[in-house]
Amino acid sequence: MTFRNLGLSTDLLRAVADSGYTSPTPIQQQAIPAILKGQDVFASAQTGTGKTAGFTLPLLQLLDTTNPNNGHRKPRALILTPTRELADQVKDSVQTYGKYLSLRSTAIYGGVGIGPQIQTLRRGIDILVATPGRLLDHLGQKTVDLSQIEILVLDECDRMLDMGFIHDIRKILAKLPASRQTLMFSATFSKEIQQLASTLLNSPTQIEV
Ligand code: AMP
Repeated sequence: MTFRNLGLSTDLLRAVADSGYTSPTPIQQQAIPAILKGQDVFASAQTGTGKTAGFTLPLLQLLDTTNPNNGHRKPRALILTPTRELADQVKDSVQTYGKYLSLRSTAIYGGVGIGPQIQTLRRGIDILVATPGRLLDHLGQKTVDLSQIEILVLDECDRMLDMGFIHDIRKILAKLPASRQTLMFSATFSKEIQQLASTLLNSPTQIEV
């Protein structure tokens, strides 16, 4: 199995080759084709399995090839993470794998000034990586508009629930278009996670690695 077999574009294959990856990991083999087909995904995957590239690569390809609809560059993909460290790591992956594309991304999280984030959002962003609390602050101040989101990723969902973010997540979900692709990644499949998945996902492809 090669990355080429998974249906990725040459710009993404070049970035993957630059990263030194020779073959896709099991979660990448399953997640990439499903996401490229537009399916919702419910994946159980620990850190270290290559899950970040598993959702980032197809997400970049979908945004690069489908209707770059808004001249204002309102975000078209939202990736929620439990911590600022993970938000930064995911944003770095988005930028590494997307280096031959012209999509813009940023990470917003608490514990740092909100002003520079507002400036960055105002200049226009395609892919927004965020922790729930700070994203809600931006929504409250109307400094972010989530009405154009096409793809939502919940990364490390179990950690977000453990940290008490469920109410924040529900408030964020209420601001997103109902018609979208949703991807959930969680190390564990607790009852609470399964309940959330059943309310958020449409006939998801289930992946366990
Ligand atoms: P993750 O599980 O997303 O945190 O990724 C764990 C590590 O695996 C990261 O340092 C990636 O750079 C690396 N990685 C991701 N995909 C591959 C691959 N196909 N081959 C080798 N390393 C990879």
